Amino acid sequence: MTVVGAGVVGSAVARELARYPALRTALVDARDDVGDGTSKANTAILHTGFDAVPGSLESRLVRDGSRLLAAYAADCGIPLERVGALLVAWDEEQLAALPALAAKARRNGYDDTVLLDAAEVRAREPRLGPGALGALAVPGESVVCPWSTTLAYATQAVRAGTDLHLNCRVARVDQVTGAAGHHVLTTDRGTLRTRWLVNAAGLRADEFDLLLGHRDFTVRPRRGQLLVLDTPARDLVRHILLPVPTALGKGVLVTPTVHGNVLVGPTAEDLDGPDAKDDTATTAEGLEGLRAQGARIVPALLGAEVTAAYAGLRAATGHEDYRVRAHPAQRYVTLGGVRSTGLSASLALAAHTLDLLTGAGLDPGPSAALPPIRVPDLGRTAERPCVRADLIARDPAYGTLVCHCERVSLGEIRDALDSTVPPVTPDGLRRRTRARGGRCQGSHCGAAVRDLLRRAGGTPT
Ligand SMILES: Cc1cc2nc3c(=O)[nH]c(=O)nc-3n(C[C@H](O)[C@H](O)[C@H](O)COP(=O)(O)OP(=O)(O)OC[C@H]3O[C@@H](n4cnc5c(N)ncnc54)[C@H](O)[C@@H]3O)c2cc1C
Repeated sequence: MTVVGAGVVGSAVARELARYPALRTALVDARDDVGDGTSKANTAILHTGFDAVPGSLESRLVRDGSRLLAAYAADCGIPLERVGALLVAWDEEQLAALPALAAKARRNGYDDTVLLDAAEVRAREPRLGPGALGALAVPGESVVCPWSTTLAYATQAVRAGTDLHLNCRVARVDQVTGAAGHHVLTTDRGTLRTRWLVNAAGLRADEFDLLLGHRDFTVRPRRGQLLVLDTPARDLVRHILLPVPTALGKGVLVTPTVHGNVLVGPTAEDLDGPDAKDDTATTAEGLEGLRAQGARIVPALLGAEVTAAYAGLRAATGHEDYRVRAHPAQRYVTLGGVRSTGLSASLALAAHTLDLLTGAGLDPGPSAALPPIRVPDLGRTAERPCVRADLIARDPAYGTLVCHCERVSLGEIRDALDSTVPPVTPDGLRRRTRARGGRCQGSHCGAAVRDLLRRAGGTPT
């Protein structure tokens, strides 16, 4: 079995398959780390699916995935905060749309929305800008750490026996037909033979599908730029503040993060051209627009320091739903068009993939329990190792700070470099420890971090 793409979706699928010791599974990715594509650059919301298209596969998988990931996060120590969302109406038209959104939520199996009048909205979110006429509260919406989620899936899969091949782009697929048929994958790192194949290639799922002769959909990347505001802004925002959705997507939102920042974004820009799938550049125009829109929602954010800006690319296909399809004759499953909700749906998508594979004839054999794992809790409410006297007494490296902004110790960096799926770049290390993720963005600790990486054999760029 080979899963192509080690984003949050492919890693979740590999973890699901790792429950079956009789399967020999490879998880391959063109990049040098897991979760280094769209999965590293999103809004980090664990959606309930309240606003999905009722009856769609996405609706079901986001609803189920949300429940599954909340339980998984609690088991593994992935930071998650159930802050709830407010869909804020800023004009009469938006206010009139709220009851229909509540009805849509019910059709999606979500019954807990509450309509709020202007006074109730202000009581719940005191720093909101002037002019909010009402809101729909969605108490089940949460924020989660997207990086430790993918990392937890991949780590658990690898510890259960999955072979992880990074820097391993699959360039070509040949098929050997007949009873003992298999796929021959030509990759940057040699040839892989596999009987079963899962396409979790994200933005390139359409191109991968073409390698197997399918033209079911085309991915047109939709770029979303985001601003990261420094931690003092976290006290200004209590909920995920959503706009009433438009045809282009969920629109610009303001959301707290589990790491103690506030995000403003994302933009929604359809990109074309040969480099569109790699175009994660931010633009002055995009960021200025976000700054202005964020300040209209919560005016006090205008004074907040911007720590970072980034952009992610949604795998939009022009279809309302995911493009998930099994091709039993080829022993192949495509997970395409997972645009804006892949983090939320990941565990349910993985279970659905296993169903499709077994429906196509896979006999995975008996299942076994996965090895339990814990990831470092990088949430703002967690007690960091540098304040744990017991840890420091056992190992002084936890008392030696490398990144002062985020209070990351030498011990944590060492642990990440020694881990099952170790980072090889400063960005990979940041996703595992938060080093260089604070207000100085590595001005102070960058050289030390690069040196630690170099000594561990990584690429200190
Ligand atoms: C701005 C933005 C905000 C979002 N906000 C949210 C949110 O709040 N909540 C939520 O649930 N979702 C959100 N999403 C959506 C979510 O991030 C995605 O649905 C999810 O990350 C998709 O994961 P993936 O594994 O399918 O793709 P990716 O993470 O892109 O992984 C695909 C992987 O496949 C690899 N690959 C491709 N082709 C090949 C090949 N030929 N050989 C080997 N490897 C290959 C790539 O290198 C890549 O690592 C957001 C997305 C964006 C862009």
